Amino acid sequence: MQVDRDEQDGVPQETVEDWGPGLQKVRKRRLLLWILIAVYMPLMWIAQRLTHSFWDALPVFWVWFALLIVIMTYSALARCPRCGNYFHMNGMSLLYLRKCLHCQLHVCADKPGKKTSPAAS
Ligand SMILES: [Zn+2]
Repeated sequence: MQVDRDEQDGVPQETVEDWGPGLQKVRKRRLLLWILIAVYMPLMWIAQRLTHSFWDALPVFWVWFALLIVIMTYSALARCPRCGNYFHMNGMSLLYLRKCLHCQLHVCADKPGKKTSPAAS
């Protein structure tokens, strides 16, 4: 069996490249959640404009809310590629921070250029 990972003292060491696909999955699920949250205000505005009534626009809110629960659960269940735990969940706390709540792996750890580049230009 071929081992293509870096080895140190005969023990395979995981590299940043190994985390890339896992971190991409975490970022994709986070993005989906942020898009859903950003869409709330325009969606409710449109619903109110079309129905001219708060109560008639309420079903739109409930559909959005149901979607929010689904997408939040979906993104909360994303696992950290380094430690294997839930990236945004530690016990009962659900925090959408940019680092893993268990091993502190940054969500952009596979993109060192983006993370370390200064704000200049
Ligand atoms: Zn982790």
